[in-house]
Amino acid sequence: MNVFYNLTIAQYWGLLLALCVLSLIILALLAVLRHESRHIRGPGHWLAAVALMMVGTGLAGVAVAQAQGVWVWMYAPASAIQLLGIGLFGEGLRRHQGLPSRAATVVMLSVLAMLVLLGLTASGRQYGAVSSMSLFAGLAWARFVWLSVRFRRPGYGAIRFGLVASGLFLLLGWTVRGVVLLHAGPTAWRELISLANIGLIFFSFIGAGMLGLLLVLLINFRLAERLRSMALRDALTGALNRRGFEERAARLVALSAQMGQSVTVLMLDIDHFKRVNDEHGHAVGDLVLKALAQLVHRAKRETDLFARLGGEEFCLVLPGTDVPGARVFAERLRHSFEVLEIDTGSRFLRCTVSIGVAYASAAMLQSRRVDLVDLLHQADEALYEAKRAGRNRLRFYASPEVVSSRLDSRLFATTGLSSGFGPSSLVWGDSSGVQ
Ligand code: GH3
Ligand code: MG
Ligand code: MG
Repeated sequence: MNVFYNLTIAQYWGLLLALCVLSLIILALLAVLRHESRHIRGPGHWLAAVALMMVGTGLAGVAVAQAQGVWVWMYAPASAIQLLGIGLFGEGLRRHQGLPSRAATVVMLSVLAMLVLLGLTASGRQYGAVSSMSLFAGLAWARFVWLSVRFRRPGYGAIRFGLVASGLFLLLGWTVRGVVLLHAGPTAWRELISLANIGLIFFSFIGAGMLGLLLVLLINFRLAERLRSMALRDALTGALNRRGFEERAARLVALSAQMGQSVTVLMLDIDHFKRVNDEHGHAVGDLVLKALAQLVHRAKRETDLFARLGGEEFCLVLPGTDVPGARVFAERLRHSFEVLEIDTGSRFLRCTVSIGVAYASAAMLQSRRVDLVDLLHQADEALYEAKRAGRNRLRFYASPEVVSSRLDSRLFATTGLSSGFGPSSLVWGDSSGVQ
């Protein structure tokens, strides 16, 4: 029986071939990207999914077109390959988010679907097999849509929307095919299968094309994100580098001022670090840097900014922290580092750190009497004083707010405070406050 009731054979094969070529292009793009992004999870699943979809669709297309001999039996495995492909798209999304892949379940369900389709074919119910596949594939795409809805990542809203839309297009394609077949019924389905498949191929063009490009875009976004983060972070300690600090710190201080929050800046410098390098080697020096950074990473809040500004100099910007709070935090850091036994492989090493602290209230920031540059200079000055006073201690830059806080005056960086501390001492470059 001629199954190409509405279309010529050339047109049908042309459409199928075009879909395969589109899949091949997406396959090539994904393969190149996967090679460049080994650390990103998901592309492997998507690559397999596109390949399986391409092979499955091609074989199923031929099986339906030939509709005789061995080709009749090809329909069930070809459909199972398609279902496996659809399932792997969703599993790739799960993997991409760090969730465990349920590929084994997808394989099992595909095999189960194949057995059902084989059973229907064996009992001569080809109509049943062809229309059941619309249901199975529709369900598989519905699951993909569900997984896409649950794909949440800040800044990826548009991609998520696109993934849902492409899944819906493919679901719609299989639904249209199912509805046409149901409408035709078991007697006239052969006359309408080509029409049903044309509907499916039409929606597949849009859906699969969109999906492929969105996955390529998603991988590219992640690559760009990683490169950006690498450009802004110090590889050894994971702290922001100077560029990252400059990009974020001024914004954080401005935001704190807007929200009526004070800001504290801590400048940290490891004591006698040159000696550590000289006596134990650079590699051990690096271990010490890592140990301090790790300690800070654990102690700081999510909103605090932590950067490595120079060799063994670190800076912390703490929004919404008052003077007593900063004191507790800085003292805890200093003490934890002092008692930390750093494992160098051959022995345990102990180091100390000096900390300079500068504080500005929201009012000071809002009136622009102090900005981030001032705070950094002040913290630096306080750090210098901590070093002068013998190291392994903290000193506060004595701004009027710090002086008026109930802080032990021995913690002030500037000396001679008790004998009339004047505002001129606040100006960076005026060393009159530090003796
Ligand atoms: P102070 O107590 O006065 O801070 O003495 P210090 O020896 O720590 O101070 P100084 O700033 O003179 O020494 C900093 C040293 O840090 C010099 C350099 O050898 C070392 N250094 C800078 N960057 C790195 C790095 O990435 N790794 C290692 N291992 N050492 C570094
Ligand atoms: Mg040092
Ligand atoms: Mg130094």
